[in-house]
Amino acid sequence: MTKINENYRKLPGSYLFTEIARRVTAYGQKNPDKRLIRLGIGDVTRPLAPAVISAMHAAVDEMGTMEGFRGYGPEQGYDFLRQAIAEYDYQARGAEIAPDEIFISDGAKSDCGNIGDIFGVDNVVAVCDPVYPVYVDTNAMAGRAGEYSEAVGRWSNLVYMPCTAENGFAPALPESKVDLIYLCFPNNPTGAVATREQLQAWVDYAESRGAVILFDSAYEAFISDPSIPHSIFEIEGARRCAIEFRSFSKTAGFTGNRCAYTVVPRDLERGGASLNTLWNRRQTTKFNGVPYVVQRGAQAVYSDAGRAQVRETIGFYQNNARVIRAGLAGAGLTVSGGENSPYVWAKTPHGMGSWAFFDLLLQQAGVVTTPGAGFGPSGEGYIRLSAFGGAEDTAEAVERIRAVL
Ligand SMILES: *Cc1c(COP(=O)(O)O)cnc(C)c1O
Repeated sequence: MTKINENYRKLPGSYLFTEIARRVTAYGQKNPDKRLIRLGIGDVTRPLAPAVISAMHAAVDEMGTMEGFRGYGPEQGYDFLRQAIAEYDYQARGAEIAPDEIFISDGAKSDCGNIGDIFGVDNVVAVCDPVYPVYVDTNAMAGRAGEYSEAVGRWSNLVYMPCTAENGFAPALPESKVDLIYLCFPNNPTGAVATREQLQAWVDYAESRGAVILFDSAYEAFISDPSIPHSIFEIEGARRCAIEFRSFSKTAGFTGNRCAYTVVPRDLERGGASLNTLWNRRQTTKFNGVPYVVQRGAQAVYSDAGRAQVRETIGFYQNNARVIRAGLAGAGLTVSGGENSPYVWAKTPHGMGSWAFFDLLLQQAGVVTTPGAGFGPSGEGYIRLSAFGGAEDTAEAVERIRAVL
């Protein structure tokens, strides 16, 4: 009799987004004339940059010719893209990263989940609370998380690092021994960023203990404060203890196009093995690369025109974030995030629960948000608002929220 991976049985249902959808549908059925505004989305809405579109068109035409046709590409990605990334995302910021340390992929979500393949099942994993659920669920699937407690909302073998107002949404270094540390800055969902000093403390901690930091910087393009690092590799020592995940999804509107990359430095070794070699082995065995046309589109993000166009789109979302943040703060809510991030993290008024405030905004303002409790117990008492909507909708949503507070 075939046995399933029993770890899948332990996973709780993907409660957050199904429950939001259920409540939104129920509201829509009762209020067919009310126009809902969605500030819950974690997806971009602005079209691809013209430079990306023309590069992709040209690549499609190439594929239709005898000379230009390409079959399987390198599993790690084409050199033209790996070189552009090394130059613009790393060397230009003083981070020593070579093209052969960059692995192009179809998403940071896949990479964050797949990276576990190269690590033993008995490593102790540390995650932030609240957290992007992918880090937790993929470790649970691999058998690293132990048992889930519905009552506590936590897995028995994971080390949770609370990110709260008290610590400025910056997790403290774990007190117990951990081996793999997931960090995400700018953070989803809190919108918090990490300073150079904070990241240095993490790198020193990981280096001295032989731990590995798994650094997700999917939102680095939203950093506006020049003192905030965009990459963990801007930090001294990180080449010996960190892996970084990046994506064109939020940076350049590629959520439907699928292109991302993971950086595994050559200096990173554990158990006498090079993690760059292991990841290369994993990718060449289980992955066959990102489409040529998509990689040409991603390369165009680094052209002069592409960079200017992408900047403008990021600026559009950053402006939405300012509108949300200023509008809610002006109405007396305690808000954070939204300055170097597309997410604003707002404290519910009068100690209201996340879901109660979500319902109030849905029922009375017709605005969809995301309850913070859905990202972990420390998210209780907060909601997440996203800057990925339209400018008019965002302004109207903020006005509607202000009117019901
Ligand atoms: C959106 C997001 C990503 C990007 O995922 P892709 O698979 O590249 O689209 C990665 N990490 C976090 C925390 C995200 O919110």
